[in-house]
Amino acid sequence: MSYDFLQLAVKGVQGLKPYLPGKPMSELQRELGLTEISKLASNENPLPPSLNVLAAIQAELSDIARYPDGSGFELKAELERFTGLNSEQITLGNGSNDVLVLLAEAFLQPGRNAVFSEYCFAVYPIATWATGSEARFAKALPADHKKMPLGHDLDAIYDQIDKNTAIVFIANPNNPTGTWLETDDLKAFMQKVPEHVVIVIDEAYHEYQPDDQAPNAISWVDDYNNLVVTRTFSKAYGLAGLRVGYALSSAKIANIINRIRQPFNVNSLALAAAVAGLKDQPYIEKVKQQNSKGMQAIQQIIDKLGLSYCPSRGNFLLVDFAQDALALNQKFLEKGVIVRPVANYGLPKHLRISIGSDSENAHFERVINELLA
Ligand SMILES: *Cc1c(COP(=O)(O)O)cnc(C)c1O
Repeated sequence: MSYDFLQLAVKGVQGLKPYLPGKPMSELQRELGLTEISKLASNENPLPPSLNVLAAIQAELSDIARYPDGSGFELKAELERFTGLNSEQITLGNGSNDVLVLLAEAFLQPGRNAVFSEYCFAVYPIATWATGSEARFAKALPADHKKMPLGHDLDAIYDQIDKNTAIVFIANPNNPTGTWLETDDLKAFMQKVPEHVVIVIDEAYHEYQPDDQAPNAISWVDDYNNLVVTRTFSKAYGLAGLRVGYALSSAKIANIINRIRQPFNVNSLALAAAVAGLKDQPYIEKVKQQNSKGMQAIQQIIDKLGLSYCPSRGNFLLVDFAQDALALNQKFLEKGVIVRPVANYGLPKHLRISIGSDSENAHFERVINELLA
C-alpha cells in the first residue's frame, strides 16, 4: 500500500480539480497525425510577436546565465510611462496568473471568502480554494438577457459580499463569456463595496476593446485604495509563451504582494520583450484590426448557422451550440480544429472559439459547416 498523499494535502487542495488548458497542437498531432491543425482554444494571438520584441529577446539571449533583474527596473520604468502610475504601485508577475495567485495568498485564509461571477475565469476559484477559503459564485445574468447574456451581475456580486470577504475578482472583458461591464456601473459598484474588500479588475483583454471610451481601470487606481488592476502580455502582445503580466494598485497593496513574490518571478527574456512590446503600440493596433476582422468573420459564420453567442469584446466568442458540446468538440478535434469546451465552467452546450488568423478562421468555417450541415 502506498501512502495516500491526498490525505496529507491541505484541505483546500484536496477538493481541487486542476485547471484544464487548451489542448496543445503537438498533442493533437501525436494523437491523430493530422497535418492541418488550427488552435482556437486558448485566446492566443494568431499573429507573430512584434519584430522589435523578437529583436529584444535575441539581444537578451546571451545573458541568460545571469539571474533576471528581480526588481524589473526597466519594465517598471516603461510601465510608469505607459500607465502614469509610479513604480511602487506596480507588481510584476510570471503572467498575470501569478499576481492573481499572489493576491489570493496575501489576503485569503480559512474563514474568509472571495467573490466572483459564476462564469468567471477558472483561475479565481482555484486560487481561492488553494488557500482554504470559500469561493462564492454570484449568479450571472440570464442567457436570455437582452444586452449581456451570461454577463456579470454586479448586484448579485455585491449581495455575496460580507464581513469575511477579502477579494472580489472581476474580469473586464470577461473570459469565457466575452461580456463586459461599463465604466459607470463599475464605478458605482466600487463606491459601495466596503474598503476592506480588495477589488481585482482583470483586464487581460483590455486592448481588444473597440475605442477609447471603453473602461480603463488603470485610470481609477489612484481613486480607490482597494482597487487592483491586472494586465498581461499574453493576449494582444502575443507573448503567452514567455509569461509576463502585472498588477497596478495602491503602493500599500503592492508592498504587501511584493513580500511573497518570488524574487525572480519574471525571466529576463520576458522582461526585455515586455519593454519592447509596450514601446510598439502600432503592433497592438494591427492586432486589434486583425481581431475585429476575424471576429466579424466568425460571427457571420455562426449567424448563418442560426446559433447564438454572447457579445464579445475579447479575442474569442462563446457560442451556444444547443447540443452536447463535448461530443461536438471531439468532432472538431478529429478535423484538426481545437476549440475550448467550457463544461467545467457550467456551460455544457457552449464552446469558446478564439479568433485565429485568416487561414485558421477559414479552416474553422469549413469544419463547422461540415459538422453542422
Ligand atoms: C488569459 C487570461 C489571463 C492571462 O493569464 P496570463 O497568466 O497573463 O497568461 C488573465 N485573466 C484572464 C481572464 C484571462 O483570460
